[in-house]
Amino acid sequence: MKRMLYIGLIALLWACSCESAEEPGVPVITCTTGMLGDAVQKLIGNAAKVQTLMGPGVDPHLYKASQGDIRALSQAKVIVYNGLHLEGKMGEIFSKLSANKRVIAAAEALPQGKLINATGYNNAYDPHVWFDVRLWSHVVQGLSYELQKAFPDHADDIASREKTYLKELETLDDFCRTSLSKIPDNQRVLITAHDAFKYFGQAYNIEVRGLQGISTTAEYGLQDVSELVRFIVARKIKAIFVESSVSTRSIEAVLEGCRAQGHEVKLGGELFSDALGEAGSPEGTYVGMVRHNVQTISTALQ
Ligand SMILES: [Zn+2]
Repeated sequence: MKRMLYIGLIALLWACSCESAEEPGVPVITCTTGMLGDAVQKLIGNAAKVQTLMGPGVDPHLYKASQGDIRALSQAKVIVYNGLHLEGKMGEIFSKLSANKRVIAAAEALPQGKLINATGYNNAYDPHVWFDVRLWSHVVQGLSYELQKAFPDHADDIASREKTYLKELETLDDFCRTSLSKIPDNQRVLITAHDAFKYFGQAYNIEVRGLQGISTTAEYGLQDVSELVRFIVARKIKAIFVESSVSTRSIEAVLEGCRAQGHEVKLGGELFSDALGEAGSPEGTYVGMVRHNVQTISTALQ
């Protein structure tokens, strides 16, 4: 009897903890990328539960929503996504859901003049806006404005957290400038698998080359590899980089191509381009991710 009671109690506790995950009193904000999840968490504090769909190493360009994601999105009070076609396969879901809930396309709130045109696409913009820290500060301000409207009871708290976070981003931007200024002029070239770093290059005065275009859905061919190899050899580039959310195969082909031409180019390290690092690690936050990238690039190219 005692045992039955015990089992009953466990079952009851279990049922309670299950329900609390979807407790009606605690609103949920569902975000696509880790960068957005981090920014929203910084702004909202404890006023909502923040959920991120795309974890470490996940490529947003290729991401397909699972049934669980659809459920999470339809239960969320607010949805935050990057937009500018970053989440290529999810656009339709967002436009459907926006009919009856607040769906925020964070990067699309930026004025068009601040966006970089996507080469090869008509009327499309490069979605990787988070790599210019000042531009990302504008995104954070826009998010704060939207979240204050969605959570009017917490508006003052959100505004004050925004102020604190913007200061942190200003310090981060200073760090980027100081650290990257140490790279000599002839080595200011960043070569990665896909073109995620154009905003970064523009903001911090570094030439950027990617093997694939701004989306990893674009195919690359042998000709792209040999063109990039020629460029690296001619410019005597010291290091190229792999990305945590993109297969390393293409960059390895470039390394080999350079070696075959007698130019030793090294792997400069792993950069976090379209996804944060593991939660709890320094790269698990936006600030930590940018610091890691900048330190890696600056060390390898000096
Ligand atoms: Zn990308």
